[in-house]
Amino acid sequence: MHEETTKEQVESWDKQYLWHPFTQMKDFVKEEPLIIVDGSGVMLRDINGNEYIDGVSSMWCNIHGHRRKEIDDAIKDQLDKVAHTTLLGMSNIPSAKLAKRLVEITPEGLNKIFYSDNGSNAIEVAIKMAFQYWQYKDYKKKTSYVTLQYGYHGDSLGAVGVSGVEVFHAVFKPLLLKSFTTPSPYCYRCPYGKDKTSCSLECLGKLEEILSENSASIAAMVMEPLVQGAGGMIVHPEGYLSGVKDLCEEHNILLIADEVLVGFGRTGKMFACAHENVTPDILTVSKGLNGGYMPLAATMTTDEIYNTFLGKHSEQKTFFHGHTYTGNPLACSAALANIDIFENEKVIEGLVPKITVLQKRLEQFKELKAVGDVRQCGLIAGIELVKDRETKEPYSWEEKIGMKVCLEARQRGLITRPLDNVLVVMPPLCINILQLNKMMDILYESLEVVTGTG
Ligand SMILES: *Cc1c(COP(=O)(O)O)cnc(C)c1O
Repeated sequence: MHEETTKEQVESWDKQYLWHPFTQMKDFVKEEPLIIVDGSGVMLRDINGNEYIDGVSSMWCNIHGHRRKEIDDAIKDQLDKVAHTTLLGMSNIPSAKLAKRLVEITPEGLNKIFYSDNGSNAIEVAIKMAFQYWQYKDYKKKTSYVTLQYGYHGDSLGAVGVSGVEVFHAVFKPLLLKSFTTPSPYCYRCPYGKDKTSCSLECLGKLEEILSENSASIAAMVMEPLVQGAGGMIVHPEGYLSGVKDLCEEHNILLIADEVLVGFGRTGKMFACAHENVTPDILTVSKGLNGGYMPLAATMTTDEIYNTFLGKHSEQKTFFHGHTYTGNPLACSAALANIDIFENEKVIEGLVPKITVLQKRLEQFKELKAVGDVRQCGLIAGIELVKDRETKEPYSWEEKIGMKVCLEARQRGLITRPLDNVLVVMPPLCINILQLNKMMDILYESLEVVTGTG
């Protein structure tokens, strides 16, 4: 038996040995780290016994809460059978069952599932698949991509090559794929100076220009449908997604819809593409796929793309991609239980009153002078803080305004993480109205304290 680990040990091991993602370690090691020991529902508890609302769904992935009995049991049941076997040249029950379920619940026409183990890999698979598809179709020059400004698709090099969050990715530029960037439909800072009343989706014009001039060299457009997450919870105007889909079709370009964040109910529908009746050529899912339990991702595609890869052995037409843990049975079992809960508890229908409450609570934030914009899609919201409401001048990054508000919120029992000057609201879908109100109370108070009242 080994002895109980003490808080002091964890803290010192963390500081001595751990390199945290997206973290300036010089600052991190100076602070007392937040160490989570357990959780239940939307609540997390730290090593000192403090409780917090998990306001960012443990980095945007938790759906039905922590320690959901049905998901816990599904994993335990599978664990009693076998933890992992490969999908290379053989199969297993949970991954086949889940493939069928995913085809049933995603937009019509996506009939084939390719598994991987995180969102970046799902994108990696998607961009390789799109490229290779055109190679087989004899469009050999289609070797680049179109992406949205402020788009985010993960941190592996392929994914970074189709992303556009400057601060994260600038340093890697020399290593990246060639891509064209089209303006984001970021209405608060509309690049065409339009507002809701005067907008006629001018931003699609720029995309059309890029596509008509370069379609011979473009394999696919990669985008986050409806909400650009890491880029600042940018909510797209209605019609943008279907407009993109039409342009892609017109110019013979594949559409890769990255639903790693927006998939599994966050937008108020099971998948964001359903809001505009769009079936992309390739769709990626990961974060909510198994309720935020373990690493799992899927890249889904059409029969047309799948069939293009079929051929005789001598043609060597194989999709050369795969990971050790592709289709891991434990992770797939958790995903099946996750989808069961959606169906058994009518989770999507149950979101309607929560979305309305969130909308009402967000209205109140508009009164604060530090709030420039409030945007919402389903149970996702972004609150953009500005120094000056008239000019929309942002707080400089040195001021760390978002982080200050979030640290204040932590003192009051809410865990959330900003995207620079944008406060993020992304609770697990199972949050109840009481907890949602509590969360918004804490965020409001924290914002008032940090920026001064009024
Ligand atoms: C988080 C995210 C990814 C990357 O997923 P990881 O599992 O972190 O690699 C890709 N696309 C979108 C839209 C995301 O939000």
